[in-house]
Amino acid sequence: MKIISINAGSSSLKFSLFEMNNEEVIASGLFERIGIDGSKYTIKFNGEKVSQEVDLPSHVDAVNILLDKLTDLGIISSLDEIHGVGHRIVQGKDVFKESVIVTDDVMEKLDAIKGFAPLHNPANMLGIEAFRKVLPNTPMVAVFDTAFHQTMDEATYLYPVPYSWYKDYGVRKYGAHGTSHRYIAESVKQILGKEEYRLISCHIGNGGSITAIKDGKCVDTSMGFTPLAGIMMGTRSGDIDPSIIPYVMEQEGKNASEIIDDLNKQSGLLGMSEYSSDMRDILERCDEHDEKAIVARDKYVRRVVDYIAQYYVLLGGADVIAFTAGVGENSIPVRRQICEELACLGIKLDLDKNNVRGEVVKISTDDSAVIVYVIPTDEELMIARDTLHLINR
Ligand code: AMP
Repeated sequence: MKIISINAGSSSLKFSLFEMNNEEVIASGLFERIGIDGSKYTIKFNGEKVSQEVDLPSHVDAVNILLDKLTDLGIISSLDEIHGVGHRIVQGKDVFKESVIVTDDVMEKLDAIKGFAPLHNPANMLGIEAFRKVLPNTPMVAVFDTAFHQTMDEATYLYPVPYSWYKDYGVRKYGAHGTSHRYIAESVKQILGKEEYRLISCHIGNGGSITAIKDGKCVDTSMGFTPLAGIMMGTRSGDIDPSIIPYVMEQEGKNASEIIDDLNKQSGLLGMSEYSSDMRDILERCDEHDEKAIVARDKYVRRVVDYIAQYYVLLGGADVIAFTAGVGENSIPVRRQICEELACLGIKLDLDKNNVRGEVVKISTDDSAVIVYVIPTDEELMIARDTLHLINR
């Protein structure tokens, strides 16, 4: 039983083909620069990598080539082997509380909410439309980054602003990275072997969010109306005092969207260090005693610690803290610093076990008050699982 997971951007299409019997990736790849000069595709399978520059005027062309190549390269023997296609959708608002089989009605609803993620949702929809055209009889499933966070209660998802902003314009917390946090929650459930647990899931990469999870359900999450909120990120500020915006607009003669662009693309590690958004670069500079890099790293860690502490109280304690995504899975010193700053909660890291990258490992000591894990996330697998589940249903 084979399922394709798709993550479509405005000029790209990433795919993973899973054999669901053992949840193994049998091929993966990327079509890039769709609709732009210099487009190409890369397909990895069986330890091999095929890459070619090719004309890709539209997503439909990318899908046609992908499906041709899957058969030409002998990865599948016929398109009938593909039982379903799962698509990542960034924003589902409160319209989509879980993954759904794509129908015309779903496409209409997606169209109605696309303005809430103008950079992502229309691109995600292009991917669905392309596959529906090329594989009209294959079931498609839409999986939403926001759906996992739909279990937050009103006091959590409402902002303390005029209620009409919510009622009339949909201003509320939606969160993001929900598919990743859900994957972490399922992994922790399996590891612990029980349904009841309090988990703080730390997805910290170039983008980042922290989620408080009780018994598999999201209670609160650090991202908000958009993915600009919450912790400090590679280039994003995370939470700031909103009064800064009109003040800097006046100082720099910029409009609101230019300032939001600065907060999305010129802030975070990049903005504070004036050097790089990449944690590896920042840590290298820290080793060279670069003052700005040290302050940027410390602020990054403090923001994560703030949210973990807040969610520890919200959940009435925590059974597990899990680190995932680029920094969470790989950065030994950042995990160490975060856990050291949480020592007052009785969290103790095993420094030898923390010396790990990209593997599922318990990194806390046996007498730590909270179990700390590194768990590599797998959003593509989560999308494929949802797709299989809905098709079987
Ligand atoms: P992601 O967005 O999940 O791909 O994460 C990207 C972030 O992970 C970047 O800031 C990278 O510097 C960081 N990252 C990846 N590998 C490492 C590593 N070995 N040590 C520190 N940070 C890393």
